[in-house]
Amino acid sequence: MADCLFCKIVAGGIPAKLVKRSDDAVAFHDIDGKAPVHVLVIPTRHLAAARNATGAEGERLLGRLLAFSAEVASELGLDAGGYRIVTNTGADAGQSVGHLHLHVLGGRKLGWPPG
Ligand code: AMP
Ligand code: ZN
Repeated sequence: MADCLFCKIVAGGIPAKLVKRSDDAVAFHDIDGKAPVHVLVIPTRHLAAARNATGAEGERLLGRLLAFSAEVASELGLDAGGYRIVTNTGADAGQSVGHLHLHVLGGRKLGWPPG
């Protein structure tokens, strides 16, 4: 999508600190990290939010994104201490980029419930 920040990161038009890439997902460090590890996992194709991942292929993609996020967490050493995977959706959750993304947060004690 032409006017999407994360599509531009996928295409390499905007630089990002890449963690891992697959055929259908990219993981990169959040520019404003809220924890010692704060990585964003996004699909390479534009989807506004999880609800837009429809049909069998959409469901498979959501599964792969979650599995990919868990791989990223493992590779960044978070398995022992634990971590959180979360996706903000819509205004009440504070979604600020309209391209589906999973936050992988870890490296410190994470409060619950989130604010
Ligand atoms: P959300 O608020 O859930 O939509 O998350 C969007 C995230 O994208 C925020 O945590 C931002 O810090 C992060 N972000 C915004 N611009 C960039 C960028 N250019 N590179 C990496 N992360 C970014
Ligand atoms: Zn996009």
